[in-house]
Amino acid sequence: MNTPADGRGLPGTNLDPWYSQYAQRTAGLSASEVRALFAVASRPEVVSLAGGMPVVSALPSNLITTAMERVMRDKGPVALQYGSGQGIPALREQILDVMALEGISGSVDDIVTTTGSQQALDLVTKLFIDPGDVILAEAPSYVGAIGVFRSYQAHVSHVAIDEHGLIPDALRETIARLRAEGRTIKFLYTIPNFHNPAGVTLSASRRSEILDIARSNEILVLEDNPYGLLYFDEKPPEALRSVDEEGVIYLGSFSKTLAPGFRVGWALAPHAIREKLILAAESAILSPSSFSQLVVSEYLATADWRGQIDTFRGVYRERRDAMVSALGEYLPQLQWTVPNGGFYVWLTLPNTLDSKQMLPRAVKELVAYTPGTAFFADGRGRHAMRLSFCYPTPERIREGIRRLATVINGELDLLQTFAGTGMLESARIDPHYASPPPDLD
Ligand code: PMP
Repeated sequence: MNTPADGRGLPGTNLDPWYSQYAQRTAGLSASEVRALFAVASRPEVVSLAGGMPVVSALPSNLITTAMERVMRDKGPVALQYGSGQGIPALREQILDVMALEGISGSVDDIVTTTGSQQALDLVTKLFIDPGDVILAEAPSYVGAIGVFRSYQAHVSHVAIDEHGLIPDALRETIARLRAEGRTIKFLYTIPNFHNPAGVTLSASRRSEILDIARSNEILVLEDNPYGLLYFDEKPPEALRSVDEEGVIYLGSFSKTLAPGFRVGWALAPHAIREKLILAAESAILSPSSFSQLVVSEYLATADWRGQIDTFRGVYRERRDAMVSALGEYLPQLQWTVPNGGFYVWLTLPNTLDSKQMLPRAVKELVAYTPGTAFFADGRGRHAMRLSFCYPTPERIREGIRRLATVINGELDLLQTFAGTGMLESARIDPHYASPPPDLD
């Protein structure tokens, strides 16, 4: 143990007295850029286009209060007790109805309810990954999944995407290259609908092609679909799981279609995998929250949950429109994705701009975003950023984009003014540029 003279520890540094004793796998545990941002971006004067918080205020709170009261009145002793590690059967039946909306059928026995789909991501990774195993993921990919993969010492290999989602040829090439290097590929992690962070949706023709590639290479697919029901115009193509029951683990969640505070998500796994998944869940948490599951179940049984999803879709569509039109007005020279659902737009910057370096200046201008680097395991993403339109009102989104344009255009002006003069480096010693606050890096 390495105890500093004053006896106090500093976590994560060699001033932490337990520094030398952590398991190797904790090397991958670092505060995500999104998490670190919440502290700064939650100040009311900052327009946060950074986090992915659903608009829970669009959910009539009396619906939830009524469901909670009914649960306590009719099922109190069950709600307050430990439950089954696999989850409450009645809720799993209802989850089948939710998934049917996306063309998925399955057996109630193959569903495991989890503490958000985040826990399902953790459990699946725990089941399959030994240190050094490869997980294929889109470039970019969900920051929370990358964090889990790192914590199990996986090697994440990114596969290129375009406006139609994962590129099949890029997937083939990546698999061939990794196999030639003797690497063990364990699964393909993919977010086919309204991708976080890229905002794109995998086309129908690519879905079958990707499944063919996975099948012929004996690679399991982990399909993460928290946003599929939040489409704005057309429904997305049917889920990968609806076509392949044996080769796909499907993850769903009530976080975006109801509320994340319940922490209820689920995995629908091939029958052979599901048993191990239940054992892993039991060993992690014994059982998911009985109370939360029963309230969600009561809500699904008594409220117009489909109508509520339509309400959410309307709210998010209006916010997407506000963001896209503000981008067109204030930053017409840049490129961005136009999502047909979900929460996110991916903005590509000129190569001369660095989204991570620019962030402190943006926060000073009272707007926050998530730098693209958060969504890559390999340090890429500096010339892009994720803009979330889910939480701020349309007016605030517009104001946020206006402020962002001030920052971006200011940086571009600066670069143009000093281009070729050799003075750029000294210009960057401006305190706003030199070192981001420690909690933003
Ligand atoms: N996957 C994706 C792609 C997400 O965006 C999120 C939440 N932002 C999750 C999984 C985890 O969601 P939850 O645990 O709330 O179900």
